[in-house]
Amino acid sequence: MPRHGLDHRGVLFVLSSPSGAGKSTIARMLLAGDDDIAMSVSVTTRPPRAGEVDGKDYHFVDVPRFKEMVAEGELIEWAHVFDHRYGTPEKPVLDMLAAGRDVLFDIDWQGAQQLFQKAGGDVVRVFILPPSVEELGRRLASRGTDDEDVIAGRMQRAASEISHWDGYDYVLINDDVDQCFEEVRTILQAERLRRSRQTGLIGFARKLMSATA
Ligand code: 5GP
Repeated sequence: MPRHGLDHRGVLFVLSSPSGAGKSTIARMLLAGDDDIAMSVSVTTRPPRAGEVDGKDYHFVDVPRFKEMVAEGELIEWAHVFDHRYGTPEKPVLDMLAAGRDVLFDIDWQGAQQLFQKAGGDVVRVFILPPSVEELGRRLASRGTDDEDVIAGRMQRAASEISHWDGYDYVLINDDVDQCFEEVRTILQAERLRRSRQTGLIGFARKLMSATA
């Protein structure tokens, strides 16, 4: 919500990056410091990694259940990413918007594209790049959450994910996580203040104008 508290239409805020670019850290920082934005928790058929919590990091489901959700129209978007299916349940997003909150999506370029179409273009798409190939390699290797084949595969896929950078409204380079976070926060604040999103502005402006008439 903008600082002055006028009603506004919620921001659909997409953060994408190849894995290892620091997106999850930045998403966490954003959510921790701002109650007006909430995370969309995706559904995935990928098995949980150590430490991941069902319902918080993802809703972990099997392939038949995922297919059922697609068939029932429960997902706003979905895609195959790294051999698994990932999708965004629609209802929680609508509930968060109805509660006056902005919604943060950690989804890939395919999801960003679908969401953009569904929302008639009213989506803010931010892409985060790693500072270099070497640094990306270091970050993926130091995670220790997947085996080496998976890491090598991810390096290849990072290149393919990066090739879609031009489908985004904002592109940031994460060479310093605090700086990158500040940039993401600034984008969100600016997008909240767009005239077209401030539905409470008409009444407010009218009042100001009538006071001086
Ligand atoms: P990971 O398996 O590392 O958690 O995520 C792999 C990739 O899937 C990330 O790039 C992430 O942004 C993407 N992803 C996660 N959830 C969704 C989703 O609901 N839809 C789409 N299209 N991509 C997702």
